Amino acid sequence: MLELTTPVQYVKGVGPKMAEILAAKGISTVGDLLLYLPFRYEDRLNPRGIGELRAGEMATVIGEVRNSGLFRTRRMPIFQLTLGQGRSRLRCLWFNATYLQGKFEPGQLIALYGKVEQDSHTGELQIVQPQYEMLGDSGEDTATSLEVGRIVPIYESAGQGRVTARWFRRVIRTALENLNPDLPETVPAAVRGRLALVSKREALWKVHWPEAGESFEALQSARTPAHVRLIFEELFFTELGLEMKRRQQRAQTGIAFEINDRVRQAIKKILPFHPTQAQKRVLKEIAEDMQKPHPMRRLLQGDVGSGKTIVSFQAAIIAIENGYQVALMAPTEILAQQHYFSARRILENAGYRIVLLTGSLETDRKREIRRHIAQGNAQLVIGTHALLEEEVEFARPGLVIVDEQHRFGVMQRLKLMKKSGDGTAHVGTAAPESLPRAQSRDPAERSAAERNDPPEPDVLVMTATPIPRTLALTLYGDLDLSVLDELPPGRTPIVTRRVSDERSAEVWDFVRKQVEKGHQVYVVYPVIAENEENELKAAIKMYRELSGKVFADLKVGLLHGRLDPDLKDQVMRMFQKGELQILVATTVIEVGVDVANATVMVIEHAERFGLAQLHQLRGRIGRGAAKSYCILMTGGKVTEDGEKRLEAMARTNDGFQIAELDLELRGPGEFFGTRQAGVPNFTVANLIRDRQLLELAKREAAAVMDGPNAEITSEEISRALITMRAKWQNTYGLVEVG
Ligand code: ADP
Ligand code: MG
Repeated sequence: MLELTTPVQYVKGVGPKMAEILAAKGISTVGDLLLYLPFRYEDRLNPRGIGELRAGEMATVIGEVRNSGLFRTRRMPIFQLTLGQGRSRLRCLWFNATYLQGKFEPGQLIALYGKVEQDSHTGELQIVQPQYEMLGDSGEDTATSLEVGRIVPIYESAGQGRVTARWFRRVIRTALENLNPDLPETVPAAVRGRLALVSKREALWKVHWPEAGESFEALQSARTPAHVRLIFEELFFTELGLEMKRRQQRAQTGIAFEINDRVRQAIKKILPFHPTQAQKRVLKEIAEDMQKPHPMRRLLQGDVGSGKTIVSFQAAIIAIENGYQVALMAPTEILAQQHYFSARRILENAGYRIVLLTGSLETDRKREIRRHIAQGNAQLVIGTHALLEEEVEFARPGLVIVDEQHRFGVMQRLKLMKKSGDGTAHVGTAAPESLPRAQSRDPAERSAAERNDPPEPDVLVMTATPIPRTLALTLYGDLDLSVLDELPPGRTPIVTRRVSDERSAEVWDFVRKQVEKGHQVYVVYPVIAENEENELKAAIKMYRELSGKVFADLKVGLLHGRLDPDLKDQVMRMFQKGELQILVATTVIEVGVDVANATVMVIEHAERFGLAQLHQLRGRIGRGAAKSYCILMTGGKVTEDGEKRLEAMARTNDGFQIAELDLELRGPGEFFGTRQAGVPNFTVANLIRDRQLLELAKREAAAVMDGPNAEITSEEISRALITMRAKWQNTYGLVEVG
């Protein structure tokens, strides 16, 4: 008898060789195999008659091969097959398919799936490039066949096509038939009851072998009770793990900052403008966290230009006025410098001591700054990754602010956290096995206070990537979320237009007119030098063209990532001071750069940029009162997705709407930036399709933790921890932070 944990090679039909191929797909146990779900289903219960087919529909047709063969046209070889059902015939074509030669025998029974089209010459119906599957001998008893006479699961093949859908069908069926009939339940009974989930065994059977009456639509959209049960289970244990992590964090000893009238006064004093309602609300949320005796773990989301910086400075003042130090980390030197300048502008008059620590400083200067930090003289430390270098020690770390979290690697943030105190209070390194239970706490797991560890500093993570709220709430389950959903007043909406670069002369005319009005302009290119992308106008080349010819009489600057840091600085500062009218740049200006007088953003080869990137770039303008323009120039052919991106940009300025679409177009992996902060690798769940279930899972996870002791067993807890680790470790940054 098979258990879910049994190695997959013990399933009849899987030899060591197949097991190897399966292993490459991440299938090593029976449980893994059974969660290898069909990606679609075919209705072979009621196979369609050729006569009923309609042009334009997707259809499964079962029939006999009448004849097949390759013929060559001038353009390409085409493989043609004629399928027969009694007297009806249907032509099927595959382009360039020499590999199909000799595959089919007349009289063979096959199933085809594809789009029905009408031939433009003959008017006859045909299927082009269908997927096909050989069925058993036409004499096979259809009552017992796994291939016809039922709704048939279609699996992605494996091992470069050597392991077919048909093979999976047989083997999965065998595994199900030999599975322990008393399969233990995994989801807590209380939850199963509340949600009326079907049993695990039933779910596993029906997700592969749906009953005849099952809704086809529910099957294709993974919404049958069987699907829901399996997807929910995966999400539930993920959320449960996060919820535990969250509670563990909340139980740690943090700093209870005091906010009295003096502090309040200090916060108010620095404000150069009236805060928006959203800024007030968010500051209140942050202040409340900071007053608690547990460490703050908060994510501040706000579209570009929503005014996150000033809020973070206010939070910094709370910590500083309480005698603690603040670290503010930016992803690039330019941004760190910009924060440094605005911090000095806003905070230095009030007497706060601010230092900038970046990699490009001279060694002596760095050493001196580090000493200031270690002695506690520096109150606000602004920097880049240099802050993460081993030698930087804070005397009294109170608050860590991370700007643009997506630019940072997971472990880097973790390392920063470890710097706090004497190095014993390692955030995020407690063994999950020893997590405190809601009710019974393991005495071996003493609290930080009992161990006399220094308190954990608060952490505020800021991001301008608007993550759809439902996703943020659930994915960043261990962080609290604040949203700045209001732009400061006095902004005029940005006008976004799309033009082909054949009309660049008009664009440059427009740029000139804006400059004549005293405004400044960005012109952005996707790459620095041509190398692999010869066709693209590189920034350097275009800089020569624009500064030498088109705008020879204007002051044009060039900014790109490979410039010497000093030079980069100088250029940026000149643009900020208005000494440059036009800045030709690569995406180094993408995040954070703030020049209110810049009113035009020209993006060349806009079709090459991602949606989030375009939105970030556009966020560089529209920061002052003057009307601003974003001009998306396209050169050459634009893909379908490219069209969607450009269209979305022209339609809306709303970062959240753009994020929703971006998520849809790119999928979660890309959306969240795979390399730095990947996304949990779900087996059956899909973050876009299953958003509602994700929310449900989050709610249930919290309910289980809050509920009476009986709602969750220790096996379920350890299962949650294993699931969470497998899915999240080294993949999703913020989980590791706290
Ligand atoms: P982001 O959220 O993109 O980091 P910033 O903090 O850079 O945005 O703010 C964008 C611009 O808006 C800055 O020039 C800032 O000084 C200004 N700003 C922020 N808050 C307000 C406000 N309440 N009223 C007026 N201007 C503001
Ligand atoms: Mg910012």
